[in-house]
Amino acid sequence: MRLFGVAFPAEKDKNEWEKEQEEARRRDHRRIGTDQELFFFNDVSPGSCFFLPKGAHIYNTLTDFIKSEYQRRGFNEVVTPTLYSTALWERSGHWEHYSENMFTVTSEGSQTYALKPMNCPAHCLMFEQRVRSWKELPLRWADFGALHRNELSGALGGLTRVRRFCQDDAHIFCTPEQLEEEIVACLDFVRSVYQVFGFSFHCQLSTRPTPCLGEPEQWDNAEQQLERSLQHFGERWELNPGDGAFYGPKIDIQIKDAIGRQHQCATIQLDFQLPIRFDLQYVGRDGQLHRPVMIHRAVLGSLERMIAILAENFGGKWPLWLSPAQVMVIPVGGNSESYAKQVVQQFREAFFMADLSDDQGATLNKKIRSAQLAQYNYIFVVGDKESESGTVNVRSRRGKQLGRRPIEEVLTSLTQLRDTRSNQDEF
Ligand SMILES: [Zn+2]
Repeated sequence: MRLFGVAFPAEKDKNEWEKEQEEARRRDHRRIGTDQELFFFNDVSPGSCFFLPKGAHIYNTLTDFIKSEYQRRGFNEVVTPTLYSTALWERSGHWEHYSENMFTVTSEGSQTYALKPMNCPAHCLMFEQRVRSWKELPLRWADFGALHRNELSGALGGLTRVRRFCQDDAHIFCTPEQLEEEIVACLDFVRSVYQVFGFSFHCQLSTRPTPCLGEPEQWDNAEQQLERSLQHFGERWELNPGDGAFYGPKIDIQIKDAIGRQHQCATIQLDFQLPIRFDLQYVGRDGQLHRPVMIHRAVLGSLERMIAILAENFGGKWPLWLSPAQVMVIPVGGNSESYAKQVVQQFREAFFMADLSDDQGATLNKKIRSAQLAQYNYIFVVGDKESESGTVNVRSRRGKQLGRRPIEEVLTSLTQLRDTRSNQDEF
């Protein structure tokens, strides 16, 4: 049995702590997930989330956000298998070091396969699939493939610890000379995404642990290069000696959310070992074969965990661009019902999550109240007047009346707020 206690120097500290606990309970992503019908879990697949339509909307919107960045940052998406023969995992070293965390499957009697816990070995196979030239580098390959890790069932909890998840994972294969610039570009990527969420962050440079693989000179070089990239990047960073991976140094990015909690999601890791294990080579400018450097990096990290962090960060009040409940249309009296349906349809065609209030019999105030509680960003009230003039009467989630506006104008303004991922809610 495990017992724990908390002690406080004074009464006011205890009150403060209790308030924080209450706030954390109120923001608990599992509770938000149930209240807003985002996702659920079922014992038939422990640690694997079922995302309902509203949760899937958040999931896909985050993915689309990252994909739009990939487009302009020179990343290319690849699609790779989920199941691989143990021969691959033996080659990558996972079988030796990581097999207890992997799910295995047997097929045709004797063949053993395992569900991938990470994408890196598949990307190495893609690199070695034909002869590579220095002219192709850097190669930046992104993969949203589903990953499985066999976490103990007792350790599972909501979306923060799962067995099945996706990452905004990518691997960069580059020459040693390109490393510094690539790392700065990765850091810039992280910054521009976190700015949208309103997260502040700082970086940690984790250097060689003991024991580690590789030559000391190679480590010195890589650590210095990462340090130069961090200086160049210009944000706050600190040294975290001895905390690197055994295969290379890394930069971890610590974010701070709206209630001051720290999370580590993004990571940028150098890897000298996988290119050696897979004997990856490219033909250099000099015509000789050279070994590329591999960078593992993720910005959001696990999509599942990021959704939990964002749910708690926003306390379920999703910004318009990410919101699974963007517009609620409430008809009032007369023949407004069919006009309301038409408004909903118009917004859905413009890719908004719009719904028609079906609170039959409730008063208008009650309908507005329940839409606000369901965290709809905007509520449109439409009656005969609106129907005749092609307008909607808009109010924001915070109860601010934005007045009667032509529907085209509202559509244009909301599209702009959504597409610029703005946090503003008045227009
Ligand atoms: Zn990787």
